[in-house]
Amino acid sequence: MRAINKSIIAKTKSVKKVTDADMEKINTYAISELKSADVFVFSVVLCDNEIDRDGERFTVESLKTLEKLYVGKTAIMNHSMKTEDQSARTFKTELITDGRKNSLGEDYYYLKAWAYMVRTEKNADLIKEIEAGIKKETSVGCSVEEIRCSVCGANRRKKRCAHIKGEKYDGRLCFDELVNPTDAYEWSFVAVPAQKNAGVTKTFSEKEEKATQNIFKSMESKEEITLTKGEIEKILSAVKELEEKAKDGEEYRKALVKNVISLSAICFPEIGAEGMGDICKSLSTEGLRTLRNALEKRKTSSLPIGCQTGETTDNKADENNSSFVF
Ligand SMILES: [Zn+2]
Repeated sequence: MRAINKSIIAKTKSVKKVTDADMEKINTYAISELKSADVFVFSVVLCDNEIDRDGERFTVESLKTLEKLYVGKTAIMNHSMKTEDQSARTFKTELITDGRKNSLGEDYYYLKAWAYMVRTEKNADLIKEIEAGIKKETSVGCSVEEIRCSVCGANRRKKRCAHIKGEKYDGRLCFDELVNPTDAYEWSFVAVPAQKNAGVTKTFSEKEEKATQNIFKSMESKEEITLTKGEIEKILSAVKELEEKAKDGEEYRKALVKNVISLSAICFPEIGAEGMGDICKSLSTEGLRTLRNALEKRKTSSLPIGCQTGETTDNKADENNSSFVF
């Protein structure tokens, strides 16, 4: 049996109305009967049939098995297992397909889980985060019986074949299919920085990230080192990830500058767009945010009431403006 860890970034969603049927399921795990007001219920995506960074993916059959295996499994919140009430429990799972296709052009399937937490003071912050719909990295752990080569079907746990993950053979991409999960362990939850792209994205697991950092460390020693193919791949993915982050940062800054200039045109028209643009250039992103907030305040306090509420045809213009507000 090989134990594997997979992670995925997806939006968590709080469940506003907990049904009686859900409460019945939840109460099969509770020591003393819980009322719907005692619990916080949320949903999360656990895994899917998309090829991940390791060149591996679950088959739909495997996801069907995991759908059963994950019911009743604990979720470790923020990597803490110190007390019982810092964890959540999965009480319901569902394999979903919604018309989207995966990168192979097949129907995209994902395993959604519903979990509950007891509403306690200790859980309050985490509950707030989930309620706000903050994206989380979910990491699942399970064992699979077989790791199957997508090209020749060999069980790579038993015998090596000549195919290399990520390469194409007669137009067919080589990846590993994770077949027949035999056990599912707890899943855990880690906060991730906001990502621009919607939907589901794969990410480095913490272990991989550490491995990459170690490679960088040995590179810093400036001594001659030999890298394996896997290590080179790790470095390339890390660089790509950094590039993505830098791009997101740039986009954010651009929008912020635009926002500041348009606010400044209302509050301090004498500075002019060009002048304000020059000022913005010398500011850090944090400085820009401070200026934007100050201008926002100034705008609200200086405009006549009618303008603020946008009762008339200004309504549309206001809506457009708000798209730059972060
Ligand atoms: Zn093969």
